[in-house]
Amino acid sequence: MEKRKINRLLVANRGEIAIRIFRAATELGIRTVAIYSEQDNVSIHRFKADESYLVGAGKGPIEAYLDIDSIIEIAKRNDIDAIHPGYGFLAENADFAKRCQEEGIIFIGPSSELIEKFGDKVEARKLAIEAQIPVIPGTPEPIETLQEALLFAKEYGYPIIIKGVSGGGGRGMRIVRSQDELQDSLDRARSEARSSFGNAKVYLERYLEQPKHIEVQILGDNHGNIVHLFERDCSVQRRHQKVVEVAPSLSLDDSLREEICQAALTLMKKAGYSNAGTVEFLLTPDKRFYFIEVNPRIQVEHTITELITGIDIVQSQIRVAEGHALSDPEIGIASQSQIQMSGYAIQCRVTTEDAENNFLPDAGRLSAWRSGGGFGVRLDGGNGYPGAIITPFYDSLLVKISTYGTSFDQAARKMLRTLREFRIRGVKTNLPFLENVVTHPDFLSGNYDTSFIDTKPELFV
Ligand code: ADP
Repeated sequence: MEKRKINRLLVANRGEIAIRIFRAATELGIRTVAIYSEQDNVSIHRFKADESYLVGAGKGPIEAYLDIDSIIEIAKRNDIDAIHPGYGFLAENADFAKRCQEEGIIFIGPSSELIEKFGDKVEARKLAIEAQIPVIPGTPEPIETLQEALLFAKEYGYPIIIKGVSGGGGRGMRIVRSQDELQDSLDRARSEARSSFGNAKVYLERYLEQPKHIEVQILGDNHGNIVHLFERDCSVQRRHQKVVEVAPSLSLDDSLREEICQAALTLMKKAGYSNAGTVEFLLTPDKRFYFIEVNPRIQVEHTITELITGIDIVQSQIRVAEGHALSDPEIGIASQSQIQMSGYAIQCRVTTEDAENNFLPDAGRLSAWRSGGGFGVRLDGGNGYPGAIITPFYDSLLVKISTYGTSFDQAARKMLRTLREFRIRGVKTNLPFLENVVTHPDFLSGNYDTSFIDTKPELFV
């Protein structure tokens, strides 16, 4: 494959991930270009880039970043070589990846075919079954009727989880514990899936009780080389959304780690995967693991993998997109065995959140913002500074704190110290809640699963 140097990179995103990508690109000598919606006129990401352009004029705050025509037009007008989609927005939109390709712009991510395949969770499960990776018992196809659901329940029993075929972000899933809930849950899941993802198709899986969420970071090039960067434990979730992530997991011994990482590799090799991606698994209390899905993009929690491996995943994505092999000096990963993990990393997602108003996001002007920091602390943010206006239009993430320690305990103590150092006034945040999580004895001993938050009301005081 021919190499093509990226000189000008546009990030089709906003907030912390846009800034994260600008930083990576700048270090590689690449000129950075931001897009911003009208609502983001004074958002910091636009000022962190070398150039910035208004996108989706006259459109709503979210629609602007989904305006493919407007983005492509900006890219063409400004000699853009490559577009990085970040996460969310267009990151998993196969049409956008295809359009970039047609316009001669490098899309920094896997091919549109792979995005399409993994965007359909039923198709992803099929691929996992073909690759002989353990999957949770589920319906082989999307289901249409109550009859089909009843048949599945008869064979596998309850509880069942109903999931959107195109689902994401923990939304639109329904747990069904008995037959009398089934019809109603199906109807609701379908209509939620339609309104959230524009696709009403749903499928069923056996609902596993108290699993851990373990995911493996994968990096592949366009020459058939593919490696894993070990795992992250993302079991600390609220309503199926990740809140605190840990790398490596405290729940895997070396042989189980090797097994899970190999399973992820087998699947992604079979798929012919390239660029960065994540294979997600659930691990049951009896230490069996099952595939749930692939995320064909950079993830929010990639930072902790970077901390334990020393590999800059975003820079690797850019180099792969330029056509470099993993073993080229530009990336420098000659073999799997060269990737070593050391120490422990924890990430906390600091968000606005109003505990007195059903934990809904909060908005307003920041009257104070004093940041934590210091040795072993990485901050990925941008929109927090004194005087900044936090709008209600986008996700509620203020800053990601990632801490690194030679032991898990040290990383946790650094996290607690950093959380306590932060002063954020003007919006309500989840800082007190995060403090409770990282000091909880079950968190510190690794004795937690995806039910951790939901079963501990004491975390909310
Ligand atoms: P999304 O793409 O919306 O994030 P996932 O399939 O990745 O959805 O699942 C998100 C979370 O939902 C998992 O981490 C887990 O906590 C829960 N979950 C998903 N499927 C199951 C299942 N079959 N059994 C138990 N929990 C599940």
